[in-house]
Amino acid sequence: MIPYESLKILNRPFEEKFKARFAGFLEKGWYVLGEEVSLFEEEFAAYHDEKYVAGVANGLDALILSLRCCNFKKGDEVIVPSNTYIATILAIIQAGLIPVLVEPDSRTYNIDPAAIPAAITDRTVAIMVVHLYGQCCEMDPIMELAAQHQLKVIEDCAQAHGAKYKGKLAGTFGDFGAFSFYPTKNLGALGDAGAVLCKTEADYLKIKQLRNYGSEKKYHNGIIGYNSRLDELQASFLRIKLPYLDEINTHKRKLAQLYTENLNDSFIKPKSDPDFYNVFHIYNILHPERDRLKQYLLENNIGTEVHYPVAPQDQPALKDYLRSFDYPVSAKIHQQTLSLPCSFAHTEADVLGVIRILNKFHS
Ligand SMILES: *Cc1c(COP(=O)(O)O)cnc(C)c1O
Repeated sequence: MIPYESLKILNRPFEEKFKARFAGFLEKGWYVLGEEVSLFEEEFAAYHDEKYVAGVANGLDALILSLRCCNFKKGDEVIVPSNTYIATILAIIQAGLIPVLVEPDSRTYNIDPAAIPAAITDRTVAIMVVHLYGQCCEMDPIMELAAQHQLKVIEDCAQAHGAKYKGKLAGTFGDFGAFSFYPTKNLGALGDAGAVLCKTEADYLKIKQLRNYGSEKKYHNGIIGYNSRLDELQASFLRIKLPYLDEINTHKRKLAQLYTENLNDSFIKPKSDPDFYNVFHIYNILHPERDRLKQYLLENNIGTEVHYPVAPQDQPALKDYLRSFDYPVSAKIHQQTLSLPCSFAHTEADVLGVIRILNKFHS
């Protein structure tokens, strides 16, 4: 069996270091907002050649706190891609704002910059882009639009640690880069964790305040905050894995390249483009008979996933929150997309095995 993902195998190379770090953690006896969180924040900032990273509890909170940091007014509108994981849209709703969905480009699966202007109104305050599947959005036209209309830009980088557009890292374009370190992400903790990369010291200090009950100083609360601190133990594990992030990404890119070069043309594959350094959080293909293909692979002992089986506009939870429910580009991607094994836990031989079986599929 080739499973879609195996976290145990993925983390095996780090196990001894995790154990040693945990022993040190027990010894120290400092459990919340200690040295490990501060050091991880510094190291993750340095990875991006930036100064301000605030650790938070998870990726959803990273998005919510970024929005809250901007002091938008209730009912203000935020532009977001129709093709995303629901967390991005939930963050907007949880922050008291209105999500305005914009269709993706069918070639990149990411928000189509050309479709954004039609969605801008006098209530629009921000664009929340999502670098889906590990590929950056086309940030040049997006940043230009944001500047023209004075919109904040928040990047959902949950799937894009180390991804680049024109040589620049995901999370460093907008006002905020929101990261998740959920265990399956390219940089994954052993539990929930997240971070916000901020452009200004003021935003960084405010995110730190928001994550800790709105308090700047113990028991003094200036604003309404949350309990959304990055866990000290998770920070210590992330510090062990961060130096290997580039190696993890290189490995996933190598597997992706094997798929792209060897899968036959009955599958629609991700397009390569020199402007984009794709870190393949997910390697997906499109196929009109996706469900039958998924079943066929399962019968051949190959695990796959669908990201995502239900489009946001079809989620019952969102029925009172969206203005339109008609997003044909996104709907088609949701119907046809299939994610193939492409993890740090997989070998090239695993992927060549998957390719051999896939190329024998008769549609
Ligand atoms: C994983 C993910 C999130 C949410 O991250 P959590 O840490 O699970 O809260 C948000 N957006 C996208 C695109 C994701 O893939």
